[in-house]
Amino acid sequence: MSLRKYISKRNFRSTPEPSGKKEQSTGSLEFVVQRHKATRLHYDFRLEIEGVLKSWAVPKGPSMNPSDKRLAMMVEDHPFSYRTFKGVIPEGNYGAGIVEIWDHGVYLPLNHDYEPIGEKELLKDLKTGSIKFLLKGKKLKGLFALARMKSAEGNAWLLIKHDDEYAVHKDYNSEDFTPASSPINKALKKQKQASK
Ligand code: MN
Repeated sequence: MSLRKYISKRNFRSTPEPSGKKEQSTGSLEFVVQRHKATRLHYDFRLEIEGVLKSWAVPKGPSMNPSDKRLAMMVEDHPFSYRTFKGVIPEGNYGAGIVEIWDHGVYLPLNHDYEPIGEKELLKDLKTGSIKFLLKGKKLKGLFALARMKSAEGNAWLLIKHDDEYAVHKDYNSEDFTPASSPINKALKKQKQASK
């Protein structure tokens, strides 16, 4: 687990993002979903494992509908303190744009029989390309899986909701769950007005 890649991509004198330091939660493991308006609007899904946030960029955002398989591109590990980061990444920096927190909470790592496991076992499953976990967020709740795509270059995964009492069976668009007053939505509105 290393933050070397995270650190090498950033200049902490010009971005407000947290500098890389390994820390961890004191209680349950945490997760966060950030909505990020960079070159393209996307979501970043992050799970705390052994002192860092394992991270995936999810172009279409997560879904609560089990029939959706959302592409999730694994990116560099982020520091644990990134879970509370929101704000503006200035022009010229990596990922320049706006970051806001879409959902956060704690999670429980599970084995393939849906039994609770520890971080070490989850990390082992992660290396084999298939993990299961239970999310306790405000928007994302219940059982989920992340599975690496075999055909792809190795960093393409699928984020899938499992069918449970929290599953949604109609169309799910994470964009519908963002307040109009959010910094990104305000910026998008401004952009739209400017282009008229
Ligand atoms: Mn991002």
